[in-house]
Amino acid sequence: MKSFYELEKLELLIKNNPDLIHAEKLESVTSGINEFPIWGLRIGNGTPGLPVLALFGGIHGLEKVGSQAVLAFLYGLINRLKWDSTYQALLDEVTIISIPIVNPAGMFFHRRSNLNGVDLMRNAPQDAKENIHYPVSGQRISSRLPWYRGRKGEDMEPEAVALNQFCEHYIDQSPFLLSLDVHSGFGLHDRLWYPYGCNSEDFPDYPQFERMYRTFTETFPYHVYKTESQTDSYGIHGDLWDFITLENQRRHSQCKAPTLIPLTLELGSWRWVKKNPTQIFGKGGMFNPVKRHRYERTMRRHYHLFDFLLHACVNYKLWESDK
Ligand SMILES: [Zn+2]
Repeated sequence: MKSFYELEKLELLIKNNPDLIHAEKLESVTSGINEFPIWGLRIGNGTPGLPVLALFGGIHGLEKVGSQAVLAFLYGLINRLKWDSTYQALLDEVTIISIPIVNPAGMFFHRRSNLNGVDLMRNAPQDAKENIHYPVSGQRISSRLPWYRGRKGEDMEPEAVALNQFCEHYIDQSPFLLSLDVHSGFGLHDRLWYPYGCNSEDFPDYPQFERMYRTFTETFPYHVYKTESQTDSYGIHGDLWDFITLENQRRHSQCKAPTLIPLTLELGSWRWVKKNPTQIFGKGGMFNPVKRHRYERTMRRHYHLFDFLLHACVNYKLWESDK
């Protein structure tokens, strides 16, 4: 198999840190010749009842920078855990989980979709009701066109099922789960999106999100993020985070549902293209920082957000109730 930088980096991290990372092969996808594992990681002992920070990347295979940003944070965190007792102590108070590359086959073959031509972020069954832009919001015409949702009524794709089940497992044993799913594309600004993608209603834990976001802006008043609901940018049919949020409510309809705040970080890739227009002719050039200094700057730029989310998880009881 030709080289696959992100998967090699992930597997090296797992191999070199068996004491710190519990890794599980959630699923594997084959292309006929190659097999692509979907790795689910857990850092921390996974004691039920602890809050959970969940990090995801690579749902769209072309958007490698999302996986790279997640891996850069995990790499730094694992190395910090080797010498920083304050971070070691955090692991008694939080569980960190991650699927750094949700769609490895798509990433290997430079495709947004998985190998069946399905856009995983359009693959859940629910339909959007507002701000729909055809075909970007999702289409069922053909898997040869982008944004294909899959056939109506069929099971979700293996990658989407793996992500859903992984989240469900941890949501159901935790009072609080905060996730960040990193993508790239759409616009000149880095955006933080919160649910829903299907309509402009507040998602169930919007009040908690609002308090956390206020805490974030007070802590980092000069942060770079434009923050809005997914639907404010464009509606999405079959958004997986909508689905996971709605399923959390459904499973806990008879009791208090765990707090679930699923965020998407959409890195504004048009900025990279604007500075280096010829990169659009390269594979993935529309979605990734190609120049080395721009890649390194991107890896640095979001560290404080990841670290904030980790500490926000550990301390969720301190800010979750209204001040
Ligand atoms: Zn994406």
